[in-house]
Amino acid sequence: MATKKIKDQIKGTLKEVFGYDEFRSMQEEVVTNLVDGKDAFVLMPTGGGKSLCYQIPALVRSGTGIVVSPLISLMKDQVDALVRCGVRAAYYNSSLKAAESKDILERFEKGELDLLYVAPERLLTKAFLKRLETIEIALFAIDEAHCVSQWGHDFRPEYVRLGELRDAMPTVPMIALTATADEHTRIDIAERLQLTKARCFVSSFDRPNIRYLVSEKRQPLTQILQFIEDWKGSSGIIYCMSRKRVEDLAVNLQRHGIRAAAYHAGMPARSREKVQDDFLRDRVNVIVATIAFGMGVDKPNVRFVIHHDLPKSIESYYQETGRAGRDGLESEALLLYGSGDVNLVRRLIENVESIDQRRVEVHKLNSMVGLSEALTCRRKVLLGYFGEEFGDSCGNCDICLDPPETYDGTEIVEMALKAVRSVKGDYGLGYVIDVLRGSNNARVKENGHNRLSCHGVGKEMNGDEWTSVFRQLIHYGYLTQDITRKAALSLTKKAKTVLKEHEQVTLSKYQPGLKRKLKRLSQGRNDKLFRKLVEVREKLADAEDVPPHILLSDVALTEMSQLSGGGDLDILATISGMGQHKLESYGDAFLSALNQYADAASGSTQNTGAPKLMARGAPANDAQIYTFSLYKSGMDIDAIAATQGVSDRTVLNHFVALVRSGNFVDVPNLIEGFDQLMLELDDIDPHASLSEAKQELSMPVGNEEFRLLLAWREALGA
Ligand code: ADP
Ligand code: ZN
Repeated sequence: MATKKIKDQIKGTLKEVFGYDEFRSMQEEVVTNLVDGKDAFVLMPTGGGKSLCYQIPALVRSGTGIVVSPLISLMKDQVDALVRCGVRAAYYNSSLKAAESKDILERFEKGELDLLYVAPERLLTKAFLKRLETIEIALFAIDEAHCVSQWGHDFRPEYVRLGELRDAMPTVPMIALTATADEHTRIDIAERLQLTKARCFVSSFDRPNIRYLVSEKRQPLTQILQFIEDWKGSSGIIYCMSRKRVEDLAVNLQRHGIRAAAYHAGMPARSREKVQDDFLRDRVNVIVATIAFGMGVDKPNVRFVIHHDLPKSIESYYQETGRAGRDGLESEALLLYGSGDVNLVRRLIENVESIDQRRVEVHKLNSMVGLSEALTCRRKVLLGYFGEEFGDSCGNCDICLDPPETYDGTEIVEMALKAVRSVKGDYGLGYVIDVLRGSNNARVKENGHNRLSCHGVGKEMNGDEWTSVFRQLIHYGYLTQDITRKAALSLTKKAKTVLKEHEQVTLSKYQPGLKRKLKRLSQGRNDKLFRKLVEVREKLADAEDVPPHILLSDVALTEMSQLSGGGDLDILATISGMGQHKLESYGDAFLSALNQYADAASGSTQNTGAPKLMARGAPANDAQIYTFSLYKSGMDIDAIAATQGVSDRTVLNHFVALVRSGNFVDVPNLIEGFDQLMLELDDIDPHASLSEAKQELSMPVGNEEFRLLLAWREALGA
């Protein structure tokens, strides 16, 4: 078991090297497990934070951590990012020149590397394995572990032999990581990597920061332009079904002044690489692409993914939308849903040779249609499809944000469930609806179902309305569909209870062609300052010839943009992702931008009217004003933070900005030991730096609280 000392070391590494205060769910357990020398198998969605799971153990354990990764571009990105955190990392693959390879191997042998990323075919050469025997190895990490399985969607033959590592080095702990949730693939991976006894860590596959939206497709270009208008200057991907559509749409967007580029498999490799690189470096904002785009594009700040056409399955939809918001910031997935597309995909499926394959694809398409037409929370449907339970409403999809009308459907539900029960056997949704609506078609007659008591009881409702009812029953878990039997319906336990106890069931009304316009949440950032910081980052990144997000994430810049009153290095150190090394390399550049902004702002402020406070900073932004209104309504810090889904620190930062802009926040009552602290502050040398001043105080004060005190003094004219 990890001792307290080791636990402290783990936490310390998280903060000092990576600049994060807290682990995300599951990360800490995985890290401790691995530091203890035990194997792990990790299933986490894209953006869940898999990398830290092996990077921290590699730093804490002695020796070098070996990471196996399938794509050369990803290795480079990871190493570039690690080096900027002060980690001694390198990669070893076919992109290196002979001299570079030699140099890296030398460093490796001398024990000068914390992490070495290796392509699988290089790792498994005799020469390399022999080398490993003489070098201390901290762990093996197999990233994108689904590549080892033929069941997965991205099988790579060079991964198959990775199982041999276990035999070659049985005492070195191994961790396998993947975002593929499918059960078949999981078991296969564990067997092939000889990890059947490893502890398995499965986190939820929910991506709470992605807002799922579905709109009926009418005039797609106009709809897309309107949508993008709200995300001006942000990165996004638009998926289209065909190369032709990709090219047309890209040109149309360019005509409307959007920095868009096309991407599809028919383009020469060089052009594709350029487009991808321009996107990573924020030179192009919007990529219009076929599904060929995305694998290996690890861009954390993709703010939206649009599906111009219907994806073939929920799996593809989830994977593609999953490319949005890896950094955890608010993002959107918009699906333009048109019934014409459904027919098109159906026709494509009809050309599939194998009957079994066709059946699977039809089922997948139907599930996708079900999701698009769902009248229940989209997230619930999505996660339910992957076998994960979710509450009733996520609050962050079009349905939850603008719920459709509901009605008491108890009677109708009983009708539907009884019909499923009385036809017994291999019947899908369409057939049961035929029976309910009293059809006398050949199949119904042949089966004698025209003599059932439920035959024709549902005449009052049309086919679409019934389909909507059945879809809801499937989403709510009253009915299941069996793909191996032509999507035949059967009752669940839950349904049987409803029938027995006549429980009330609420259904949503079927509304064809619903059009929703939703208000966007504010991202809680100072946009003007944010853009300034983006420029600073761009300059620094250009100088180092790496994509900007490798230097510092948008999360960090968003947090920084709340320091509209300026700051110092101590305050910058509290920014998420600002580790020691980055602080030293880039801290000054960002500080000077922040302080410049603060100076400019303090010259042009307006007092918003609180009687005693003078405005000393920029006018409050929308997010801060929202905080203020919640505060005035009597909420405490925790409640304000929870309402907005931000941290307490963010709320305190808002208070600082509010006080600086002259709004009355009751600071004396917010800060413990206020009177004493104010007295002490008066005694401090006025020329001392902020961090020196803070150290002079007789009690420990958080950075935010300290800034709040200073803002208060200043606003009082002290
Ligand atoms: P995955 O490999 O699972 O897709 P990453 O390891 O790339 O995810 O992490 C996604 C993002 O989340 C990165 O920007 C990373 O820096 C950030 N991140 C990971 N762990 C934490 C944490 N504990 N606190 C804050 N941010 C984190
Ligand atoms: Zn929802």
